Amino acid sequence: ALTAGIVGLPNVGKSTLFNAITQAGAEAANYPFATIDPNVGIVEVPDERLDKLTELVKPKKTVPTTFEFTDIAGIVKGASKGEGLGNQFLSHIRQVDAICQVVRCFVDENITHVSGKVDPIDDIEVINLELILADLESVTKRFQRVEKLARQKDKDAVQEFEILEKIKTGLEEEKPVRALEFTDEQQKIVKGLHLLTSKPTLYVANVAEDEVADPDSNENVQKVRDYAEKEGAEVIVVCARVEEEISELDEDEKSMFLEDLGISESGLDKLIKASYHLLGLATYFTAGEQEVRAWTFRKGIKAPQAAGIIHTDFERGFIRAETVSYEDLLAAGTMGKARENGKVRLEGKEYIVQDGDVIHFRFNV
Ligand code: GDP
Repeated sequence: ALTAGIVGLPNVGKSTLFNAITQAGAEAANYPFATIDPNVGIVEVPDERLDKLTELVKPKKTVPTTFEFTDIAGIVKGASKGEGLGNQFLSHIRQVDAICQVVRCFVDENITHVSGKVDPIDDIEVINLELILADLESVTKRFQRVEKLARQKDKDAVQEFEILEKIKTGLEEEKPVRALEFTDEQQKIVKGLHLLTSKPTLYVANVAEDEVADPDSNENVQKVRDYAEKEGAEVIVVCARVEEEISELDEDEKSMFLEDLGISESGLDKLIKASYHLLGLATYFTAGEQEVRAWTFRKGIKAPQAAGIIHTDFERGFIRAETVSYEDLLAAGTMGKARENGKVRLEGKEYIVQDGDVIHFRFNV
């Protein structure tokens, strides 16, 4: 399964946020095969379409889809030189598919800051620099190998050499690989290099309890936004302490609490949604009387593969996918009506599943 890693300097609120994630987390009983790694938190993906489908179909059971956050501890200055838990930290980052970097924006004299003052840009740069240095090391090694082949006019090597040169120059100017531009074809080669700074990244600005309703009054948040904009990255504002409190509440209490805070959606819910998209994930639904359920798929896959997410038999015996878009189904009101309106399509093996598709798979056993 794809996972988003949570990173940040010490004392920025990572553990607090991760606590909120595990407490709000998916009910273990629903996911008996889920990992029990203490550093992994499984969250349900909030999706109002699932609520609407439940109202419409009135099933016995509704099951949201989930994905994983991984808590990655241990970044310090010098990590790329193996200081602290440096190497371990980097190898953990290598294993995640996207990065959520928690940045301290709250000011609290009682909580020590590792570098003595709250300076979000400085903090971001400390972490990004470690990742850049680690990538620079990998790229330099590869560079020497590929350079030789390129000189012998090996076609693939020539192409990769060009890319490595561009990456190396970028990294030397302290630009993360994700901020560099490549053609689609080059992008495939870049992916194969598995570099840390090529992973999709978002920033989580952790603000004080009394700033949740109006986070932009916090000038640190503004600074993070400006920084993120330059790399085209998203910023999600949370107050980790408030999220920890919310995670202990049930649904009704939660909405009341949010209303008191003057916000419509919790920071954690926003973070979950943003991370899901960052990972390139999307949702299709199955909707029967027994169960309405959301399923996660990687954007771009075809119908048989999507069927395989439910069961390998569905993929092996795939015949076709009876498909209606969520919007069309909602507009029609019932599956029968949608069918009458000609909105239910019979899709075959080559169909590329779309976010929001409501699907009934036909298959041979
Ligand atoms: P970590 O080292 O990044 O995992 O940070 P922790 O989650 O352990 O938080 C460090 C300290 O900051 C703890 O005392 C937290 O209670 C506090 N803290 C975390 N988030 C917030 C917040 O949103 N507001 C305030 N005031 N304190 C926070």
